[in-house]
Amino acid sequence: MEKKNIDWSNIGFGYIQTEKRYVSYYKEGDWDHGSLTEDANIVLNECAGVLQYAQTIFEGLKAYTTDDGRIVAFRPDLNAERMASSAEHLEMPVFPKERFVDAVTEVVKANAAYVPPYGSGATLYIRPYMFGSNSVIGVKPANEYQFRIFCTPVGPYFKGGAKPLTICVSDFDRAAPHGTGHIKAGLNYAMSLHAIVTAHKNGYDENMYLDPGTRSKVEETGGANFLFVTKDGKVVTPKSDSILPSITRRSLMHVAKEYLGLEAEEREVYLDELTDFAECGLCGTAAVISPVGKVVDHGREICFPSGMTEMGPVTRKLYDTLTGIQMGRIEAPKGWIHVIE
Ligand SMILES: *Cc1c(COP(=O)(O)O)cnc(C)c1O
Repeated sequence: MEKKNIDWSNIGFGYIQTEKRYVSYYKEGDWDHGSLTEDANIVLNECAGVLQYAQTIFEGLKAYTTDDGRIVAFRPDLNAERMASSAEHLEMPVFPKERFVDAVTEVVKANAAYVPPYGSGATLYIRPYMFGSNSVIGVKPANEYQFRIFCTPVGPYFKGGAKPLTICVSDFDRAAPHGTGHIKAGLNYAMSLHAIVTAHKNGYDENMYLDPGTRSKVEETGGANFLFVTKDGKVVTPKSDSILPSITRRSLMHVAKEYLGLEAEEREVYLDELTDFAECGLCGTAAVISPVGKVVDHGREICFPSGMTEMGPVTRKLYDTLTGIQMGRIEAPKGWIHVIE
């Protein structure tokens, strides 16, 4: 397979159009058989459900080249399951799990020339998504949908090392207690835009959202879950029904317990306890873990002992182990690595 002539280490996180994408249409209660297309544009009626009432959900995962030259994806079955849960909550039809994984495989194979080589640090980001496509003017679910997958190569997340982030406790809320925080829907991101632009204007990298009910517990950022490490080396992640169940976070909790022999627990985490932690990180597909050096709560600075220059030691071990598993250098738990070719 002849790779595209791309400067893999310097492409950043942007959209680079690749050759093929997948589309399946849902109409009269059924998904069609689906196919690849070269057309990257979508023509919709002005009254499409997605445009008027934001009926859209998505997923994000990566394919990459392992150290023995295979192209693999990381746990795509979990993305299929999570998308099914998102669909149910927005009254959309579920795209079957096996077909989801097959479609991911098909898109990556068709764009194999865009899968970055091993060692470049770059990956192929895969974006499955679904939206209501027919016209709806009265508020109700659409009855026609498109399920699509495109992919785009993205550069190494940490160019020149992982510099710890400074984040602020947000005055905005991300998700209501019985709302849509636990599903991967565009609507959760639309409402986060004003909050993130505000945070950036104030000099912060990210927002820490609290539970809107009591504003005393840590939830997550706009697009990543929190992991904390206690001073005695226990890994802790916040528990809440309105947090998006990150596949990276769930994988890291398993790695902490089964590979590193650490205690790892999911429990409520109070803003007041942040000073008890030694390390903090944000986890998600894009970065795996981004270290957090400092949280600022309305002028009060909480500095983690791991500091502002590098990842803390436990965060580093978690990061190295999970990326080692992904890249084929460390044996993966059964079912984690989906071989594409
Ligand atoms: C996608 C997402 C994450 C990270 O999930 P991964 O499956 O690890 O990529 C975390 N929080 C939110 C709000 C997200 O949308």
